[in-house]
Amino acid sequence: MGELDTLTAGALAQIRDAGTVPALEDIRVRWLGRKGTLTEQLKTLGSLPAPERPTAGARINAAKSAVQSAIEQRRAELESAAIEQQLSAGAIDVTLPGRGEAQGGLHPITAARLRIEQIFRRAGFEVAEGPEIEDDFYNFEALNMPANHPARAMHDTFYLKDGRLLRTQTSTVQIRAMQRAVQTGSLPLALIAPGRVYRRDSDVSHSPMFHQVEGLYVDENVSFANLKSTLHKFMEAFFEQDLSMRLRPSYFPFTEPSAEIDISCVLCRGAGCRVCKQTGWLEIAGCGMVHPAVFKACGIDTERYTGWAFGAGIERLAMLRHGVNDLRLFFDNDLRFLASFAGGRS
Ligand SMILES: [Zn+2]
Repeated sequence: MGELDTLTAGALAQIRDAGTVPALEDIRVRWLGRKGTLTEQLKTLGSLPAPERPTAGARINAAKSAVQSAIEQRRAELESAAIEQQLSAGAIDVTLPGRGEAQGGLHPITAARLRIEQIFRRAGFEVAEGPEIEDDFYNFEALNMPANHPARAMHDTFYLKDGRLLRTQTSTVQIRAMQRAVQTGSLPLALIAPGRVYRRDSDVSHSPMFHQVEGLYVDENVSFANLKSTLHKFMEAFFEQDLSMRLRPSYFPFTEPSAEIDISCVLCRGAGCRVCKQTGWLEIAGCGMVHPAVFKACGIDTERYTGWAFGAGIERLAMLRHGVNDLRLFFDNDLRFLASFAGGRS
């Protein structure tokens, strides 16, 4: 029994020195486990003379509970130290300067498109959308380009296996809008249709996917003069400068008469520069009065209604507005180029 005090003191010393919770658990097993040192002591009681047993038993039990409570106390210390350490490792120094965030921005094509929409909405036009996968009727036939029409050769079309195609122009949206207006009796109609179009073409000034904006106005007594003034106002609003505009006779299957629209060069203001090839003029859009055959394909009364339509490339508008000379820059996703538009340039 004399050695019990020595044993207990040794156990308590080990507990005090335990550096981790698992180490402490090893100590507990060593002393209080089923084959632990103090547990073994109890088994020696049987060999003692009967009168000594109660006193010896009580001392052993007292030693056990002293060791037990020392272990619990040390466990609590170790656990709270571990929590402290975790907290201080993950501490945030709120006085450090932040890393900052790069400001994103709209893609210049998106920004140009929104700008176009905003200008036309102010003039009372709706913004319409249509599917990019179209069929022959909407992309060609209804636009007065029946099978074997030579104008189809101007469109290097992507065809799908089932005969449908990727639209080569946003004029398809016109047809859908006019059909809907006839069905719902909602003429007159004033809309623009911006969106992606596809042609098998790729070089400095052509991309297989690009963006067009189409405009359409159908009403009674719509005239060419109205077309010219609307587009002139639009160009001046888009480029934020006074411009001259001229129309040159042209040909499109879906308009008659048709015209190319030139504006005075927005970079040299008509004086002549590299971009306008020293002419002082920029070709900017095609337009014309809606061909009666197109109205007929949509079921519109050609005796009662007239209308005009135009189409322009959004990339071309954005390139001129920002002085960008290579169309492909818009699609390379080079952050140095895109970042120059971040922060609201449109
Ligand atoms: Zn110029």
